[in-house]
Amino acid sequence: MQSLPKKYNFAEIERKWQQKWEEMGIYHFDWNDTRRPAFSIDTPPPYPSGEFHMGNVLNWTYFDIVARYKRMRGYNVLFPQGWDCHGLSIEVQVEKEHNIRKRDVPPDQFRKWCEQLVEKYIAMMKEGILKLGCSVDWTTEYRTMNPDYWRRTQLSFILLHKKGYMYQGTHPVNWCPRCETAIADAEVDYESREGTLHYIRFLLEGSSEYLLIATSRPEFIPACVAVEVHPEDARFNKYIGKKIVVPVVNRVVTIIPDEAVDPSFGTGVVMICTYGDKEDVKTVIKHRLPVIRLLTENGRINENGGKYAGLTINQARKAIVEDLAADGLLEKTEKLPQEVGVCDRCKSHVEILEVKQWFMKTRVLTEQVEKTANEVLWYPDHMKTRLIDWARSLDWDWVISRQRVFATPIPVWYCKSCGELILAEEKWVPIDPKLENPRIDKCPKCGSREFIPERDVFDTWMDSSITCAVHAGWPDREDWKRFFPADVHPSGIDIIRTWAYYLMVRHLALFNEKPYKSCLINGMVLGSDGRKMSKSLKNYVASPEVLNKYGSDATRQWAAGGGATGSDIPFRWPDVEYGRRFLVKLWNVSRFANKLLKDYTPSETAELALQPLDKWVLSKAEKLTQKVTEAMEKCQFNIAAEEIRNFTWHVLCDCYVEAVKDRLYRPEIHGEAERAAAQHTLYEVLYRVLQLLSPITPHLTEEIYQPMYSPYKGFKSLQISSWPEFNEALVDEEAENRGDLIMALIIDRRRDKAEKRLPLNAPIKKLTVYAGNQTNADVIATGKCDIAGTLNVERFVVLPKEGSGREIPQFPGVISVAEYGGVIKK
Ligand SMILES: [Zn+2]
Ligand SMILES: [Zn+2]
Repeated sequence: MQSLPKKYNFAEIERKWQQKWEEMGIYHFDWNDTRRPAFSIDTPPPYPSGEFHMGNVLNWTYFDIVARYKRMRGYNVLFPQGWDCHGLSIEVQVEKEHNIRKRDVPPDQFRKWCEQLVEKYIAMMKEGILKLGCSVDWTTEYRTMNPDYWRRTQLSFILLHKKGYMYQGTHPVNWCPRCETAIADAEVDYESREGTLHYIRFLLEGSSEYLLIATSRPEFIPACVAVEVHPEDARFNKYIGKKIVVPVVNRVVTIIPDEAVDPSFGTGVVMICTYGDKEDVKTVIKHRLPVIRLLTENGRINENGGKYAGLTINQARKAIVEDLAADGLLEKTEKLPQEVGVCDRCKSHVEILEVKQWFMKTRVLTEQVEKTANEVLWYPDHMKTRLIDWARSLDWDWVISRQRVFATPIPVWYCKSCGELILAEEKWVPIDPKLENPRIDKCPKCGSREFIPERDVFDTWMDSSITCAVHAGWPDREDWKRFFPADVHPSGIDIIRTWAYYLMVRHLALFNEKPYKSCLINGMVLGSDGRKMSKSLKNYVASPEVLNKYGSDATRQWAAGGGATGSDIPFRWPDVEYGRRFLVKLWNVSRFANKLLKDYTPSETAELALQPLDKWVLSKAEKLTQKVTEAMEKCQFNIAAEEIRNFTWHVLCDCYVEAVKDRLYRPEIHGEAERAAAQHTLYEVLYRVLQLLSPITPHLTEEIYQPMYSPYKGFKSLQISSWPEFNEALVDEEAENRGDLIMALIIDRRRDKAEKRLPLNAPIKKLTVYAGNQTNADVIATGKCDIAGTLNVERFVVLPKEGSGREIPQFPGVISVAEYGGVIKK
């Protein structure tokens, strides 16, 4: 047998195997294979943020474990990797970097800068994925910013438009005044901020009597269209139908009843403005109130704000409050803690604006989403309620248009003279309507030859919510449905409401089919202090720091073993250090085995003189296989990792190897056949450990596999060896019970030596065991070879009767007495 190198340099071997696996092509998905079942992973293409952070490490480790496990189970695994390039976040960074706003430079220039930044970021993140040793098929790599990907996004839009899912509407939308674009509900974050509640007097028309209204947004007073009270509020219902004067702008509005008013909040009288918040939107629709647009797209007061026109929202608030005070209409103010919706990219206060936008009808799908979510397997199961609750909570359809530059263009034009909408034909895409006219002679409705391009672009989720179909080869491969739905969609807990949801609605609408069969959820990575990991909290650890210091195999053990799938996982250096120590232990036991197997040639047919401890460890390895396989099937990586590490460390290294060392070293005492049995057992059990571990720690296990196993097991890589099938026939409870007793005696006697501060190989002149009964005596007698050898016993006596001496804790009634003496052998 080839020998293992002396030194284990993790950085070197990890780099070496990453390169060799690539050369071997073992990650290549074989599109034409009809023999093996396919298993497809819907790798979520990440936003290139420039950093492959610990959250990514957790995420990618999860699905890389799945990919490696499935390959060993004989699947043809599709593990693609794309990049979700578009989006506000890149634009915001380009604007900052070049100190401009998107409109200050030609769109081409702006796009180019965005692309450059994205490429730089992709390179950095790719390095992280490679360093982690992810088994990605890089021939599948794609970028959503490339026109070839636009083609797919645009095609999906055209198909959905034809099916009636896409529409344009003037509808209130969430609007970020800084980014100057509509944003979806899912892009609104909530922050706790301290606001001020202003108590303002609204005079009844033609009277000095007033109603007091408390509002945190007095700047919206110019857009007040009604005042509301609860119909059963005895204090105020006498005013219903009366007219009231909106201060500052002196417009008269009507007092209307609405059950939705909470009489106990503020003063119980509410002003309705267009739009202060989402409640206002509902009220306006319900009571068919007029809309006064107050804000411009960049968050200033427009001409409807009268003398406040041109001011920013904050300036307007200040001016209006001053004017109210001067008019004697501001009664008092008080502090108000509030939850404020902010843009998830730039953290600006989100406003509600009524703008013409493109929408996808998503609410009509809610029932189907719920039904389908229940058909999908979720790891862990309770995560499905997050998707269902989110779908049910949506008030509005999905606004899919954005007023940005760096995104996929919406393939639509309008006739200049009659306004007719011209939808691109399927074969025209990819197309940028801003650069090209529709490929028709004239408007089909009025005959005009002039067209206006749609300037809006798609929300970036329009790109990334068709990946399940795209990864399967849609629309280019005729057989794409062979690889669809995806077998697993991995997702962070924080993006279920976006990624898992948008995938669901897009694929249901497009193909009337669920996008994924299962959903694998990872939690968030917390800092070592248990709070969310964040640069500002100073509990942040960058992944290169971890990977460079301890390597991938140790880091992956942290990710796999850090906690239950779906739960938040704290980053703790000791977890990674433990992973490293485990690797060293595995390396040492493999080196030991390698030395003692030098003269060993594995043979399937050899007659084996298996001893009780051999049978004991073989049976335990079989049970381990069952537990690990079950855990892998349920994506319980922490259970798999713990089981294998405990077995390796405690059962294999601490017990078995220690107990058979003497048998391996001294065949002249124990017999050649007995030695061969130990060699066989050690060889096979170590192989089992390497196989079960390899999805979690692929590098070191491969390093050990190649010289020791590859020539005999015949797989060019451990990564594509067949996952061991649990064989119940190999579980031998009786052998385990017998082995437990023998092992307990050895351990107890070694402990006794340690307590007496004797070396572990100190000779025992005579060891007498009072087994208490004949059964135990027989068992101990069968283990005599390993017991006497390991404990260095000169005379070994087993008696089936009771006696007094040292009792084995786990086996009451089994007593041993050792007589030390003579010269201690070193
Ligand atoms: Zn923003
Ligand atoms: Zn026309």
